[in-house]
Amino acid sequence: MTTSDQTRFDRSGLDRPGLDQAGFKRVEVHVEGVVRGVGFRPFVHALAQRLGLAGQVRDDVDGVHLDIEGARTRVAEFLTALERDAPALAEIERVTVVRAEPTGRGDFTIAAADPSGPRRAAVPADLAPCDDCLRELTDPADRRHRHPFVSCAGCGPRFTVVRAVPYDRPLTTMAGFAMCPDCAAEYHDPGDRRFHAPPICCPGCGPRLRLLDPRGDELLGDPVATAAALLRAGRIVAVKGLGGYHLAVAASSEPAAATLRLREQRPDEPFAVLAADLAQAGLLCAVDGNAAALLTSRARPIVLLPRRDAPRAPDAPRVAPSVAPGSLSLGVMLPCTPLHHLLLAEVAEPLALTGGTGEEPIAYDDADALARLGAVADAFLTHDRPIHVRADDSVVRPTADGIAGGVVVLRRARGYAPEPLPLRHFVPRTVLACGADRESTFCLARDRRAFVSPHLGDLENPEARRSYAAGIEHFLALFDLCPEIVAHDLHPGHRSTRHALAIPGVEHVGVQHHHAHIASCLADNGERGPVIGVAFDGSGHGTDGTVWGGEFLRADLAGFERLGRLEPVPMPGGDAAVREPWLMAAAYLGPGDGPPKLDVVRRNAERWAAALALAAGSPLTSSAARLFDAVAALLGVRDRITYAGQAAYELEQHADPAETGSYRARLTPGEPLTVHGADLVRAAARDLESGRPTPVIAGRFHNGVADAVARACTALRDVTGLTAVALSGGVFQNVLLTGRTVRRLRAAGFRVLTHRRVPPGDGGLSLGQAVVAAARDRARLSP
Ligand SMILES: [Zn+2]
Ligand SMILES: [Zn+2]
Repeated sequence: MTTSDQTRFDRSGLDRPGLDQAGFKRVEVHVEGVVRGVGFRPFVHALAQRLGLAGQVRDDVDGVHLDIEGARTRVAEFLTALERDAPALAEIERVTVVRAEPTGRGDFTIAAADPSGPRRAAVPADLAPCDDCLRELTDPADRRHRHPFVSCAGCGPRFTVVRAVPYDRPLTTMAGFAMCPDCAAEYHDPGDRRFHAPPICCPGCGPRLRLLDPRGDELLGDPVATAAALLRAGRIVAVKGLGGYHLAVAASSEPAAATLRLREQRPDEPFAVLAADLAQAGLLCAVDGNAAALLTSRARPIVLLPRRDAPRAPDAPRVAPSVAPGSLSLGVMLPCTPLHHLLLAEVAEPLALTGGTGEEPIAYDDADALARLGAVADAFLTHDRPIHVRADDSVVRPTADGIAGGVVVLRRARGYAPEPLPLRHFVPRTVLACGADRESTFCLARDRRAFVSPHLGDLENPEARRSYAAGIEHFLALFDLCPEIVAHDLHPGHRSTRHALAIPGVEHVGVQHHHAHIASCLADNGERGPVIGVAFDGSGHGTDGTVWGGEFLRADLAGFERLGRLEPVPMPGGDAAVREPWLMAAAYLGPGDGPPKLDVVRRNAERWAAALALAAGSPLTSSAARLFDAVAALLGVRDRITYAGQAAYELEQHADPAETGSYRARLTPGEPLTVHGADLVRAAARDLESGRPTPVIAGRFHNGVADAVARACTALRDVTGLTAVALSGGVFQNVLLTGRTVRRLRAAGFRVLTHRRVPPGDGGLSLGQAVVAAARDRARLSP
């Protein structure tokens, strides 16, 4: 009755007769989950007052602790309302109720936080301003009118300003700002919606906005108005957001967007577009109910959406070609801070933004930002509230027909991290999983929770590396965990592997890359397998030392067996083939016969023969991403890339979604089963030579891959008896492919698991490594 293992309500002791002779009773209630920083204590206080109950509420590092006494029926009412009426942002994971002897006290108090004990409290993610705060922002009569830092217990900066737990003001980067009497009164008033809200402040006592020139000298005038004027004049302004600095230009200005590309040396990777509200977003892109929910969610991710077809609405804002060159989609985001709301209102048109790229993480330290962005930005709209931890923008894509729960997360960062991911299967000893080198994240797991770090970029980048090492230390301190097991990729040369192996005094567990992908998908769905795991991605170190990437595994959390794969093909020049997809077209087409009538051969005529010769001595790969690259080059979509995943992303957008035709890849039974991807490339080449439009060919290719996956899984079901399929790996960021594949698998009678909360790409790998290591640990503890 007193253990913390009881799940949800255990009221067995409450209803026993004889415990409340006087009609009074006292209970101690422990609430775990996301209950700090979401207005939970003011809610509890108000509820107790309304019901005339006495007692105490205390934040502790493990959640919220309540001591409640009063009339028996009122206590019961309190316990019901506690969950039913909890603040919208609270996520109650567990409520434990323990009976206690009544003390006869008559008051209700708020006690100081208890910093002792294990720190498993969830540090909340950063949240966009709530409606109440936005009302104050725009109310001329409010003392926080136009205050760029307006926030409350239910919104505002959190993870990015937390230095240590418990999440209280002295341990955040707001500690340096002394509260004015008005703010202090709100802070200490249990009935106020700013009660104990760490980032509370006002124009009188809060951080100060400044506009700086690239040398760091302050520019005169109202910072927001002047920054807006600069943006309207086509200048580049660095804007300090929640998790770091964005570079912003007016979205309509082609010269500004082109200049930003030139200065950033970023020729193609699309910029995001910051729209003032849902209505403006709807003028730019097709926004359905699902997309609207994602855009307005408090995490405020960048949402990849199809651009509106012509004719454009007459009042639609213009988006310059250089904002997202050649892309049929836009990454749209709504304001995530009061400052962004103010700026958008002043500029009166959408802004194009860049933050961190695939390789380089977003700048967050003020001095570092001036140094790194000084050559790019014409001005800095900044302030003196430090960002303690960087957090890039999160990126999501809506899916159709409820596939993947309506969303694929491409990058999990600001607004989501470090919210714990609940685990179905227990983690007996603390695991640190070191993730992958690209799109790197790390993961800490213990008991039934996993804390996945925000996206940290490519570990080849020194800044990403620094953030990675510091981030691991920060998370260990934040959640008071000490790793007993360190999980890592099998690639011996990866930086994440080397980082893992350098940690002394722990047990090291190597996890195969594609097994980790499938395990991540299993954990994302609360399942343990076994399933047929389809892991399609760029590359990962195989257990045979070759490069894998188009894998069919029999997998559960603890282990896997390779049942099938794409037929390996040479990667001419190794990594060069990743940067130059036309090399993969050469590898797939091979020497062949007949005259080279294909455009891809003509475009690369000078090096074609050399590429074929190079292929002969190059490493082999079963990578599905390279198959998509080959077809992208074949169709003239992309011969050379400037950012990761570009060719496949453009091929997906190029495809005609209405096309129902398909190509057929042969399957050869065996151990492993072989899927002949080259058949798809040759079929596409034949259609191309016969003059069929490339969007039709791209559509047929997507359908062909989906068909091949479904047929391979059906063949493997015959062998294994497994009827569930898990789809993972970066290739399944492609929602056209994922949708087609899921539909075909379901039609063939499979239950299909896809990612929901972590990316299918390498950003989700650390979660998979963690649950694999934990499963092996469980097996050892209870064989
Ligand atoms: Zn608020
Ligand atoms: Zn104040």
